[in-house]
Amino acid sequence: MILKGIGASPGFGIGRAIIIEDRKLDYAAVKYTGAASEKARLAKAVKDFTSETRQLAEVLCRSAGTKQAAILEGHITMLGDPFLRRQMEEKIDAGAVAEAAADAVLTMFYDTFSALEDEIMRQRASDVKDIKDSLLRILRGVKRADIAAAPKGSILIAKDFMPSMVSQIKKENVAAIVTQVGGVSCHSAILARTIGIPAALSVPNATGMIDDGALLIADGFKGEVITAPTADQIREYSEKQRAYLQEKESLNIYFNKPTVTKSGLAKKVYGNIGKAEDAQNVLRNGGEGIGLFRTEFLFMNRDRAPTEQEQFEAYAALAKAMDEKEVIIRTLDSGGDKVIPYLQIEKEKNPFLGHRGIRFCLDNKALFKTQIRAVLRAAVCGDIKIMLPLVTCPEEVQQAKALIEECACELENEGLNFQRADIGVMIETPAAALISDLLAKEAAFFSIGTNDLTAYTMAVDRGNAKLSRLYDTFQPAVLRAIEMTIKNAKAAGIEVGMCGEAAANTDLIPKLIKWGLDTFSVTPSSILQTRKSICDCK
Ligand code: PEP
Ligand code: MG
Repeated sequence: MILKGIGASPGFGIGRAIIIEDRKLDYAAVKYTGAASEKARLAKAVKDFTSETRQLAEVLCRSAGTKQAAILEGHITMLGDPFLRRQMEEKIDAGAVAEAAADAVLTMFYDTFSALEDEIMRQRASDVKDIKDSLLRILRGVKRADIAAAPKGSILIAKDFMPSMVSQIKKENVAAIVTQVGGVSCHSAILARTIGIPAALSVPNATGMIDDGALLIADGFKGEVITAPTADQIREYSEKQRAYLQEKESLNIYFNKPTVTKSGLAKKVYGNIGKAEDAQNVLRNGGEGIGLFRTEFLFMNRDRAPTEQEQFEAYAALAKAMDEKEVIIRTLDSGGDKVIPYLQIEKEKNPFLGHRGIRFCLDNKALFKTQIRAVLRAAVCGDIKIMLPLVTCPEEVQQAKALIEECACELENEGLNFQRADIGVMIETPAAALISDLLAKEAAFFSIGTNDLTAYTMAVDRGNAKLSRLYDTFQPAVLRAIEMTIKNAKAAGIEVGMCGEAAANTDLIPKLIKWGLDTFSVTPSSILQTRKSICDCK
């Protein structure tokens, strides 16, 4: 039988199933012992959580590097957030036991994140669930499932695989992981890819359909699990895994190779990031710069916007880490599916056609200017550029440029150290593509955001499974929009890159080269494959 899920980490694993059971965390019978004592229990559990998670982070740091360990450090920061703690304590004051208070507050955060359309935002939900499960487990005095004890040749099957679970994996013993929930950009998938363990996620009822100890094959490309495989299938998949590892090894030669096509055209492969710390991941994968820093992540998981100083520190750290390599900072792209509660974006009937991206920033000048001042101050630390999201008309760029200049003048008058930065435009709406000749007169560079461009051009919601056939960069309308944008950029003599997922599409890359795309900005793990595809082009 073949069970179908989502391929989330490449490779093929052959081994015996180990079902990781959900630990029982029922607290219905726990009695309220008074506000002070419940708060003390909560405080102790948070403290234990912190030391336990720190230990796991150290183990993970050794097996997967600092960037991955930072995910668990992020859990400690999230749970240490005073706002979160206050909310739990308020529930305790209202008569909740520590377990119920933690459960209610973290479930509320979980629900908020899981309702978001954006994959990357939704991955936060899995982090919140991981924190909640660990905290409840500690409060109930239940021991952690012993994943580290899995014997050689194990395929781990769980309802959900949390980062704290992945961190206990001994790579040499685990052939694959299979879960019932999760997607390609959830943190456990990112960790599995970093450690190099094949993963099939979102396999329906995996823990019910697979018997503990059963022999399995997991295909991390297709997301398939073959139960009761034949001897022929085992031979076939062992050979596939060998060939895959050989091919992966061969990509390493592209680490120091220049990104040049066979006919000698020089191109650039950059990385897309959501946190300043992700710079290391880009560099470790041979990235030549940052083509998209999604700054909205700086604004999430908190109860107020980051200050100018907080933002300055993040941007400056990123610029320094990239050491003079180009860093493109996209200004806050909130709204649509990226809900930031404290910004109080009004509820709209069509949030994707609503007050989002540059539109929101132009109407919230103080917020925008705080970010710009931080970027201009950080620009002295490296090669920083500014990029504007969701542009649809030249006036938006003109207004944004005027505000940016206003910030530069203010910084000058205040005697602060700063540097002006090139201002580029994201081409991610059909409007922007159609007037890319006009926008090219306003912009220092373009970056094509195919994730949104495909959705808006095809009038299709990227999350609608029934319409996935239409959500396709190869649809002629989308290809025309891309080609037109590149040609208009070239005619105006400005650089043009792509930072949507399509930049890593090996079938699309030859067309992009033919049309003249300069920069390909992709998820860090796709950098070497993208460089290879470019080097293979004529
Ligand atoms: C895009 O729309 O292609 C893009 C890169 O931006 P985001 O995915 O953050 O909307
Ligand atoms: Mg976009």
